[in-house]
Amino acid sequence: MESWTIGGHCGKGDDYHYHAAPLHLSTTSGLQPIAFALDGFAVYGAKEPDGTPMNALDTCHGHIYNGGTYHYHGTGTYPYVIGAMRGVVATDPATAAPENQILPQAFSSPFRPATSPLTGASITTFSLTGTNAYSLQYKIGSSYGYVNDNWNTSNNYFFTFINTSNVTTTAQYQR
Ligand SMILES: [Zn+2]
Ligand SMILES: [Zn+2]
Repeated sequence: MESWTIGGHCGKGDDYHYHAAPLHLSTTSGLQPIAFALDGFAVYGAKEPDGTPMNALDTCHGHIYNGGTYHYHGTGTYPYVIGAMRGVVATDPATAAPENQILPQAFSSPFRPATSPLTGASITTFSLTGTNAYSLQYKIGSSYGYVNDNWNTSNNYFFTFINTSNVTTTAQYQR
């Protein structure tokens, strides 16, 4: 866990996730929701959508906003994001209370298999380099490497890996 300021990290691949309410999104994205709960209701940061201080929260960690729609709030104190589901959800009968898993879960299907982690690497730059094209620069020791990728409308994904010894390899995947 390298960053509790942000509260998230990558697992072994392209699976960035949070372990705490990503309250920083309230400052980088204005007053937009910072998340959506699996019951469909939005999660806001420390302020209401109109910028006023957060109103009192119920045990689910949310409230009806301005007599309209329910929403949750993320805070820096227990229960941090969602105390309980306010909306009606279906739970997986194969999972026992109190840890019933909600169905359906969010999922993704990666277009390439997981590869070995780059031990000691830190990401130094991630930038848009064209239409559907990105470049990720990383550093190991004092050497830089790159993962450049782009994709087309036929869901072909093209990767160029330039490692820290300046050796280039390419790979192509189809989703
Ligand atoms: Zn994690
Ligand atoms: Zn609110």
